[in-house]
Amino acid sequence: RAKEDGRGQVVAFDDQLDKEREELAFAENRLKTAIEQDEIKIVFQPLIAATDGEINGVEALARWVPPTGTVSPEVFIPLAEKSGLIEALTRKILLGSIRTVSCWQSLELSVNVSPIQLCNPNFAGEVKKMLAEEGFDANRLILEVTEGVLISKPDRARRSIDALRAVGVRFAMDDFGTGHASIGTLRQFGFDKVKIDRSLMSSNNGEVLKATIHLASALDLPVTAEGIETEEQARTAREAGCQSLQGHLCGKPMTVEQLRDRLTPDARPGRIA
Ligand code: C2E
Ligand code: MG
Ligand code: MG
Ligand code: MG
Repeated sequence: RAKEDGRGQVVAFDDQLDKEREELAFAENRLKTAIEQDEIKIVFQPLIAATDGEINGVEALARWVPPTGTVSPEVFIPLAEKSGLIEALTRKILLGSIRTVSCWQSLELSVNVSPIQLCNPNFAGEVKKMLAEEGFDANRLILEVTEGVLISKPDRARRSIDALRAVGVRFAMDDFGTGHASIGTLRQFGFDKVKIDRSLMSSNNGEVLKATIHLASALDLPVTAEGIETEEQARTAREAGCQSLQGHLCGKPMTVEQLRDRLTPDARPGRIA
């Protein structure tokens, strides 16, 4: 067994772990406070019809804007998942976005659901209860999930999906084309919709994009192309058969006031200029 050196290293490693634990606890506490004190906001990004540019729906996206700077969802969502705060966070996003979008009867609402929650046996019941209490038509709600959970805990995910689809809630496979999800996965879990990850749009790899869209079309599933930033990407997506487009070209994530402006008749409702 090593003496000085070896022990010295072990001690340093422990210190490092303690420090990381402390940082994590600090960050979790900040996030907990942020959720409690309404520091988490919702922005809405339009999904537009590939044919006529009409806004068919919006995706609710969480924003954490602390007094100094901003924190990306890529950082605080994993933090929320790790610390068990994701339940409270999603409840807020779901409830807040349902209430906001409720008045625009023609809009569908997409909300991201963390894999962890989809595996929670209470999740489906909570969503159903919320829809009933808010009087929100289940057919207008689309829950977006990524494939990870389907592979790690397929049975649990399946149960939540089935229970919610039975009342009319739809499911979209998010970030399709980035992992292992296949036509089999889409069929097996009964997805209603596919969202092609923006990496496929920006890679300029038209062939991969087309092949991926053909996969989804073979199951008669509507496809949304994410991350549309240029007219050329919009054209590619349309020609490849996407039904709807989402990206900075069609509208960046916006506040409810900005969304209202986009939806007023004067502003030519839901069309790209
Ligand atoms: P996502 O669900 O795939 O959402 C799309 C992301 O792409 C959003 O990033 C959006 O702002 C960004 N985006 C949209 N159009 C464009 C574009 O044209 N160009 C580029 N470069 N980016 C574009 P955001 O808001 O940072 O969210 C990142 C991810 O964090 C989301 O990916 C989603 O997985 C997760 N997330 C966000 N809000 C929530 C939430 O409320 N709950 C859960 N569970 N996850 C969330
Ligand atoms: Mg999404
Ligand atoms: Mg996505
Ligand atoms: Mg994503």
